[in-house]
Amino acid sequence: MNVLPTRDEVKEKIETLREQGICYVCHDLQTGEIFGTQSVIYEDADFRVVLELHPRMVGHTIVLYKPHREDVSELAADETARIFQMCVRVIQAIKQALGAEKVYLVTMCDGPINHLHIQLLPRYPGEPIGSKRLVDPRGTLTNAESTAAAIRNALHL
Ligand SMILES: [Zn+2]
Repeated sequence: MNVLPTRDEVKEKIETLREQGICYVCHDLQTGEIFGTQSVIYEDADFRVVLELHPRMVGHTIVLYKPHREDVSELAADETARIFQMCVRVIQAIKQALGAEKVYLVTMCDGPINHLHIQLLPRYPGEPIGSKRLVDPRGTLTNAESTAAAIRNALHL
């Protein structure tokens, strides 16, 4: 069984890299040193879609665009289209696989040396609607492989 890094361990590694002027995502894509073995839902040359290691709810998913872009403001139009299409497909898969009623899409990428990634945050039937979902407490990823597999099987690209 994989031992997942704690959030503090991840933050510390990210800060150390930032102090050296290194992008933590590009570094992790090359080395796997920060996030370890993640539960990958989908991966190709440009995208890696994974379950968040410290999720705010079941199915909290990260869509990572591999080429280095600090945030959405650096995207060309064709990249924007491809990334948004990927997010829509993953949202549809989360709804189908996990029974989410809605899936919120958030991207911030604030702070020095960031790397564009999009957070998908499911809301399930009966749960409160609204932006408080975005700051739900983070938990520990459980049933990662089965959750990732369920989303993967529902993903139609
Ligand atoms: Zn980067």
